[in-house]
Parts: sequence; structure tokens; C-alpha cells
Amino acid sequence: MAIYQCNRCNYKFESSAEKAPKVCPYCSEAGSVSKERSAEQLLESIDEAEESRENRFKKR
Ligand SMILES: [Zn+2]
Repeated sequence: MAIYQCNRCNYKFESSAEKAPKVCPYCSEAGSVSKERSAEQLLESIDEAEESRENRFKKR
């Protein structure tokens, strides 16, 4: 099982890890469902965002 999240309504649900659902079971939006990011991946993306912000300041 894997946790998926709808990008449209932020509805979270569990589904089979092999067969990713294409339609959100809550709002029925197609193509809005993606696998929820793990906490580690989330931290990485925050680090990257902060890095690029710092780089922008250095350029000025
Ligand atoms: Zn949805």
C-alpha cells in the first residue's frame, strides 16, 4: 500500500503501490493524484528552495 494525495483537494488515501490511481476518489479530478512525498523528500525540497533563495541574494 502507498499513500496518495490529490493535488486539487489535498485528499489523502491509501491505494495499491503498483497501481497508482488516476482519479481522485473524493473530487473525481483526473490526473491530480500523486504519491505522497515522504518526510525526507519534503525536507530535501525545502533545503533546495532555501539554497536557491540564498543564491539569488548573492547575485544581487
Ligand atoms: Zn481530489
